[in-house]
Amino acid sequence: MSVAHMIDGKAEAARLLDMLREDVSRLRAQGVAPCLAVVLVGNDPASEVYVRNKVLRAREIGIESLECRLPADTDEPALLGLIARLNADPAVHGILVQMPLPAGLTESAVIDAIAPAKDVDGFHRENVGRLVLGEPGLAPCTPSGCLHLLRRIAHDLSGKHAVVVGRSNIVGKPVATLLLQANCSLTVVHSRSVNAAQLCRQADIVIAAVGKPQLIDANWVKPGAIVIDVGINRIEVDGKPKLVGDVDYASVSRVASAITPVPGGVGPMTIAFLMKNTIAAAAAQHGLRQQAPASAA
Ligand code: NDP
Repeated sequence: MSVAHMIDGKAEAARLLDMLREDVSRLRAQGVAPCLAVVLVGNDPASEVYVRNKVLRAREIGIESLECRLPADTDEPALLGLIARLNADPAVHGILVQMPLPAGLTESAVIDAIAPAKDVDGFHRENVGRLVLGEPGLAPCTPSGCLHLLRRIAHDLSGKHAVVVGRSNIVGKPVATLLLQANCSLTVVHSRSVNAAQLCRQADIVIAAVGKPQLIDANWVKPGAIVIDVGINRIEVDGKPKLVGDVDYASVSRVASAITPVPGGVGPMTIAFLMKNTIAAAAAQHGLRQQAPASAA
């Protein structure tokens, strides 16, 4: 029995970050120091880890970072005021507000308040519109990371049947849009789908973004399919905390041709694409077209 190739997102992200470091050097040589502002409201432990990792990666490749921490009881006008100041600050090129926000703060209002040119998460409705229209803009990081990994494995995605499990605004819908642009045939499966496993079994490419630990087992996957697991779920095994995806790696890796692990798959790619967006935003805000960015290689 053959075992699927493990798609090493950690190694691929490190490769991409090395190239991005070169892009940062080139921008700095032109007098631009890319800067990412990361806003954290409250002290959700998982969000703390995400913010720490993002700031660390930024610094590692020469991107300036500005950490803005606000208490959990911050009201919306205060948060929107901070975003307005960051929008107006010419030294800040990218703004990321770590989600989820504490109760009482409306995520959509906060996303709408970020200047689209600084929206490095790619969640603003203007960037969402550009993505759907196939126009240049800031695309969301996790879906971009999924496509990058797929291209490293499959090169030409044209004509492949992709099944996206999940239809959220931050993962499912944008990854589906990117797959369409890559000329895949597309099925989106969600909680109201009838026979989700049967639909999924038709896929050459499975993208799992459900938020349900190990939901997708070998019965959902056609032999030889490529499986990208976006899920990050914290479970307990024998009383110990464990991070697992939406895919049951042990069973699916015996059926698929290639599969991303959790951790070490899509997660590191998300951060790498956040850095890529920050660099692109900085270049655009200074009227510099990135001539053949190293990261395009
Ligand atoms: P959401 O909860 O916003 O969306 C989940 C989607 O899954 C919904 O569209 C829902 O359908 C669908 N769904 C739920 N149950 C089923 C089911 N039984 N069968 C088929 N579809 C189902 O989650 P997100 O998209 O925000 O995140 C998904 C996962 O990805 C999470 O584990 C999250 O932690 C992870 N994540 C990882 C990132 C990374 O960097 N690796 C970044 C972002 C998220 P419906 O719309 O009908 O409710």
